[in-house]
Parts: sequence; structure tokens; C-alpha cells
Amino acid sequence: MPQVYKCTFCGYDIAPGTGINFVRRDGRILRFCSSKCKKNTLKLGRDPRKLKWTKSYVSR
Ligand SMILES: [Zn+2]
Repeated sequence: MPQVYKCTFCGYDIAPGTGINFVRRDGRILRFCSSKCKKNTLKLGRDPRKLKWTKSYVSR
């Protein structure tokens, strides 16, 4: 059974065979469900806790 990973950014499950893997310089592997999540992490440097569409969103 293939392992199901969670998106580094939004926290939702990534279906096997989909998603984007990104290896950082320090060797840590980031997994993204979509280019949207990749962009938000790498280009925009956003905090997923501040975005409503992520699982880690925290409302205050
Ligand atoms: Zn995601």
C-alpha cells in the first residue's frame, strides 16, 4: 500500500502519484499537494496558519 503524505503547507493528504516533492538545501523534503502550496511556501513565504484554506489555519 502506497504511503500517503500530507502537504507541507496546507496539511491535507496528497493522493499517491500526485503532488510535488521539493528537496531543500538542508536535505529536508517538502511535499506539496499543488503548485499553489509550493508557491505559497517557497515564493511567498506565507504562514499557513494565516490562510483560511489550509488545515492549520488558526482563527483568532
Ligand atoms: Zn497543499
